[in-house]
Amino acid sequence: MLSNSIATRDIQSQIHPQTNLDQHEKCGPVVMASGDGSIVTDINGKSYIEGMSGLWCTSLGLKDDRLAKAAARQFDTLPYYQNFAHRGTEPAIDLAAKLLEISPVPMSKVLFQSSGSEANDTAVKLIWYHFAAQGRPEKRKIISRERGYHGTSIASASITGLPHLHTDWRLPLDGFLKVTCPHFYREGRPGESEEAFSTRLAQEIEDLILAEGPDTVAAFFAEPAMGTGGVVLPPAGYFEKVQAVLDKYDVLMVADEVITAFGRTGAWWGSQTFGLKPDLITCAKALTAAYVPLSAVLISEPIYQTMLAQSRKIGVFGHGYTYGAHPVACAVANETLRIYDEDGVIDGVAALGERMESVLAPLRDHPLVGEVRGVGLMWGIEIVSDKDSRAPFLAEEGVPAKIQDAAFRLGLVCRALGNAIALAPPLIVTPEQIDEIGRIMNEAIKEVK
Ligand code: PLP
Repeated sequence: MLSNSIATRDIQSQIHPQTNLDQHEKCGPVVMASGDGSIVTDINGKSYIEGMSGLWCTSLGLKDDRLAKAAARQFDTLPYYQNFAHRGTEPAIDLAAKLLEISPVPMSKVLFQSSGSEANDTAVKLIWYHFAAQGRPEKRKIISRERGYHGTSIASASITGLPHLHTDWRLPLDGFLKVTCPHFYREGRPGESEEAFSTRLAQEIEDLILAEGPDTVAAFFAEPAMGTGGVVLPPAGYFEKVQAVLDKYDVLMVADEVITAFGRTGAWWGSQTFGLKPDLITCAKALTAAYVPLSAVLISEPIYQTMLAQSRKIGVFGHGYTYGAHPVACAVANETLRIYDEDGVIDGVAALGERMESVLAPLRDHPLVGEVRGVGLMWGIEIVSDKDSRAPFLAEEGVPAKIQDAAFRLGLVCRALGNAIALAPPLIVTPEQIDEIGRIMNEAIKEVK
């Protein structure tokens, strides 16, 4: 590997995020050179089915010329203008209006950033601002779930419930609290029904709010379906019961739809699939099909009204990023949403999801597979060392990673996340490619055991 000059230059010059740096020095990078639809090809000419849509984001695959043309048109007209201080551009205005039109619950305004982490940081700041402006500055604690993933900036990492994002950073920050991951297979008790599990988890949230003091708890963050935590779907009745608790104590619900928005679960929004009633929604990734970075926060009318009242009192709303509402990103997003509509992309996800289920279901019989779960085009395969006890492998055995690597050698990109293997192909994946995903997964698991 070190004789490859690209690998050597990479090792000498670059840090890769979310990467074991020691291992990287030994094995170097996999360098991708081109893409077409759901296929990605490396610099040595080997092709793979991109079974993770990159990082859950390349919803329209890797070569949609319409997106390139939309970007080119905007580059030619106005490549950049800011959105600060009463300035703006037409693509951003069009996109904000469209997002409000398609929002799963009535929302009042949209605020743009460039990444999911920035969107979640912004949501935290808006929540703090909202309650402070109402004269309740101590109402600022944030509750989220273990195994939830919300980003890696300081606030979004604090919302995240994955320990490797906290160790050595002294995170989470004070006031970021965690409750049990709603993974019924792992956290459900013997004999407990899914409904009873949901009731218990909602009670846990209520107990936490009461223990902390309702006047100190501001918001609850949740992915409608968890992605990076290993594809965890909410158990029956979960969000309904949680929502009732939040409403009782005036705690805001934030739907982190960074993965689930724009079709991933088979509907436009994960909030529609799983019945969330959010006060704020964060979204990114498939908003632009990942061709350029863009994220958004959708803001409810009551929150906007407190922001407005505060501006009347103190003047400028003091938040924003240089690249928020970047006109090229907004132009690409407008085109992306148009393609979802006109090509019926999101309507097609249900049938593709059923095909995923049918090719992955036989894996349930394999001794290493404890659970196959999913919705639309996000699926998780739980790897266990013992099916009866559901015991996972020890982390140092790295069995999910071995399966991921075997699949990669066989021509499929999937991702080991905790005890699970995740699959989330582009929304334009073909039925034949799904069959191939099933075949390779089966072979990869057999190769490991
Ligand atoms: N929220 C969720 C649900 C995510 O899956 C991610 C990234 O995977 C983020 C937030 C953070 O987004 P970004 O990596 O763009 O900062």
